[in-house]
Amino acid sequence: MEHKVRVRFAPSPTGPLHIGGVRTALYNYLFAKQNGGDFILRIEDTDQTRFVEGAEQYIIESFQWLGLKFDEGVTMGGPYGPYRQSERKHLYKDYALELVNRGKAYYAFDTPEELNAKRQEAEAQKQTFQYDCNTRNTLKNSLSLPADEVQRRLEQGEAYVIRFKFEKGEKIEFDDLIRGHISVDSSLLDDKVLYKSDGMPTYHLANIVDDRLMHITHVIRGEEWLPSCPLHVSLYRAFGWEDTMPEFAHLPLLLKPDGKGKLSKRDGDRLGFPVFPLQWHDNKSGEISSGYRESGYLPQAVVNMLALLGWNDGTEQEIFSLDELVNKFSIDRISKHGAKFDLDKAKWFNHQYLQQVSDDELAEVYQKQLQQKGINTEYQTVKQVVGLVKERCSFANELWLNSDYFFVRPEQYAEKALKKRWKEGTGAIMQTISQHLHDIEDNDWAEKAEDFLMDYIPKNELNMGQIMNCLRLSVVGDTKGPNMLDIMKVLGKQEILFRLDTAIAKINL
Ligand code: GLU
Repeated sequence: MEHKVRVRFAPSPTGPLHIGGVRTALYNYLFAKQNGGDFILRIEDTDQTRFVEGAEQYIIESFQWLGLKFDEGVTMGGPYGPYRQSERKHLYKDYALELVNRGKAYYAFDTPEELNAKRQEAEAQKQTFQYDCNTRNTLKNSLSLPADEVQRRLEQGEAYVIRFKFEKGEKIEFDDLIRGHISVDSSLLDDKVLYKSDGMPTYHLANIVDDRLMHITHVIRGEEWLPSCPLHVSLYRAFGWEDTMPEFAHLPLLLKPDGKGKLSKRDGDRLGFPVFPLQWHDNKSGEISSGYRESGYLPQAVVNMLALLGWNDGTEQEIFSLDELVNKFSIDRISKHGAKFDLDKAKWFNHQYLQQVSDDELAEVYQKQLQQKGINTEYQTVKQVVGLVKERCSFANELWLNSDYFFVRPEQYAEKALKKRWKEGTGAIMQTISQHLHDIEDNDWAEKAEDFLMDYIPKNELNMGQIMNCLRLSVVGDTKGPNMLDIMKVLGKQEILFRLDTAIAKINL
């Protein structure tokens, strides 16, 4: 029987969620939805020393913003809850003990100080200490100590951890959906701690037990977990669970823009782009890290951009709606190589999605921005302006930069343009033109004014480019903006002529 696809995103609440993590979640989501499966949010909070207040809420809010909905998880519950590992704490010890009973794990009594001393000893000889099949016999554990001593230590309540026992000289083999066949020599592996002296499982044990209990079919996660995978596979085998072992897919890293190393929080600060979906306020350091949401990115643009950092559908297509991604996504087409983060591309995606936002929606946003500046312009005008300048903007907060002159009169005129266009005698010509424009009736003034200019300028052997630019300079203060007819329509006869006459008086050449 084919099992229903069930995948999980399993972040640890240790701080804000990196966009690499968001991409991992997105690929899980796409895979689940494509296969009619479930997408689960599990919070892996067994490492209490790294727990950060507010991080879980941040993760939940990030996915709400991005529009990626979980089917089960910490917020909505589900048949295999609870979904927060700290609330499942009681479950794990029995599993660890089961492995001890099966001879696949053992008690270790070494104190942190003793282990530290071993580490330093090894370092002094330029070696690294590892708790493994070669060293464990020299250490204090239930494999090296006599059985009655182990018994005594346990009865006396001595602190212990439970470690996985890697056999010597075995080949651990498995297949990864992205990386292919993997084979590792068990002698090289660390006997990782599964269960800690504080009564908490480690990530490795809790992760495997929960994936099993939650019927996870595919584990899609970042490449940084690949080195742990031989342990995970060995755990499934040690428990006798190989028949339900999920398939593994380890995603390539997200790289710095120059391709040199993993994209880090610091790169974002240094190069001026967010590496987190939402702004994060670190309570300890007081530091604020920027977020895509607060930087004006649209969630659909972020989703689309992340989908393409490490995957493509084999064509040149770059714009995909979430539904399209669900249809077209395939693990086969995930790259093995790291994907470089590209800020220009991120902006490009936002530009594309901003163009799809209706003028009405943007006008509402813009009207609020204007009100904050103390500008109260009627909605219809704001909407008209938005329609005219939207294509010049990649972010809603670039609207002002591209349309301020609709709301405030120019105080200065771009010097370079002025020098080039406003020659001696231009003032007089503009004066005459202004008079003619005054004489045009108010009804459909802008259209009539344009017809007049198109006729008048060549007829009087004037330079079209120069005159129109001088008019633009007078009205806008610069040579930027959409076409003059549109500007004249929005601003109207009175305002245009006021600005033109002011310019003529001020420039005075
Ligand atoms: N808790 C791990 C993390 O923070 C989960 C890794 C996994 O998906 O197995 O990334």
